[in-house]
Amino acid sequence: MDEGVPRGRTASLEVRSQSPHPSTPPSSDLPPNVLPLKRRGLRPVSRFPISRQTQEFRRRFFPSASIAEWNDWRWQARSRIRSLPDLSRVFALSEDERSAVESHKGSLPVGITPYYASRMDVADPSDPIRKTHIPVLGEYLRTPGEMDDPLGEDHDTAAPGLVHRYPDRVLFLTTGFCSTYCRYCTRSRMVGEAGGEYSFSLSQWQRAIDYLEAHTEVRDVLLSGGDPLTIHDEKLDWLLGRIRAIRHIEFVRLGSKVPVVLPMRVTKDLTRMLRRHRVWMSVHFTHPAELSDEVTEACDRLADAGIPLGSQTVLLQGVNDDAETMKQLMHGLLLRRVKPYYLYQCDPISGSAHFRTPVSKGLEIIAALRGHTTGYAVPTYVIDAPGGGGKIPLIPDPVVGRDGDDLLLRNFEGAVWRYPDPGGDLGSSAVVGGSAG
Ligand code: SF4
Repeated sequence: MDEGVPRGRTASLEVRSQSPHPSTPPSSDLPPNVLPLKRRGLRPVSRFPISRQTQEFRRRFFPSASIAEWNDWRWQARSRIRSLPDLSRVFALSEDERSAVESHKGSLPVGITPYYASRMDVADPSDPIRKTHIPVLGEYLRTPGEMDDPLGEDHDTAAPGLVHRYPDRVLFLTTGFCSTYCRYCTRSRMVGEAGGEYSFSLSQWQRAIDYLEAHTEVRDVLLSGGDPLTIHDEKLDWLLGRIRAIRHIEFVRLGSKVPVVLPMRVTKDLTRMLRRHRVWMSVHFTHPAELSDEVTEACDRLADAGIPLGSQTVLLQGVNDDAETMKQLMHGLLLRRVKPYYLYQCDPISGSAHFRTPVSKGLEIIAALRGHTTGYAVPTYVIDAPGGGGKIPLIPDPVVGRDGDDLLLRNFEGAVWRYPDPGGDLGSSAVVGGSAG
């Protein structure tokens, strides 16, 4: 984390083409944290921080990239680390990683933005966020119960790219593109493959919009993918405008990892556009090491634009499967005005055994959070039932039993307390044990 690094210490600029602004001071008068603009016709519209760790990484591995390029999300997307030579140039790869990259075929390619790579330990394959983005051979092992489409989304597809499972809400798969590819991705069957079976196009969007217009029971649309924030502003604006024009659609959400892996994508133009469409956003976070100055800036911009932010985190073995790491992450999210929303048990996607924890681990983490920290910091732990059963929340069972008219409940410290519940029968089948306080 970069809390110790002063914000904006090595800031750069977003630039927008327009005629030279008469009040722009000569570059020699600019404060030291502002990059002088060399290109005529460009003026600063805002600053974007670069944390110390990321700045060192940029100088070491991308020395020819200017700060303006580094903070241009299109440059980041174009410069992604995608091949074995790219990876080998930056990371000291283990034999396991090297063999896994060499063996890869099909969808879910390797893809890491230079920015996100800067958050990883280039020398240590056990670095938590590195493990989520550089494949290992375990990815090619299929164990019992694993599936390519564990949530049965293909079965519930009502129109191409539109999953309609719950009565009043739909999942709109806007693109197959992500700026980085998570090795545990539930949609690994379809993301990252150009063309082919899962292609996304305007005509496909139009068919999904036609479906939404015809289905008046749908009031809630979740835009996901792939990552919808990798779509250019004009196209995304068009899509959101079309969805917002449907009278019965009340609630529009975007699911995205972009604020975490490509935070410079959160430009002022983007936030203004999202604000106009009154969207909510679920942001995919994994580990406290992601909580850089850049991510703080992206969250601030979104929150300042009035976009409600919630988090989604997948519980991953050896990455974030301990209470202290999770508490640090959840506290960091609250600091950035992101409400911890869901903690997901990892879906049984093919090749995910090395990421999945026992369900008891998730319950243990929730027990360590609930009552021990701010209630807002405790996400809902869910299993997305394989085959399409939907999300099932799990909490450590607080009901100890019943003693006459009293319901016996265990609190966060493990002590048993009574609640007068005359006429109730909850807890009557449980065995009464422990001492009631
Ligand atoms: S960002 Fe989301 S959709 Fe893209 S690879 Fe990661 S989990 Fe999958």
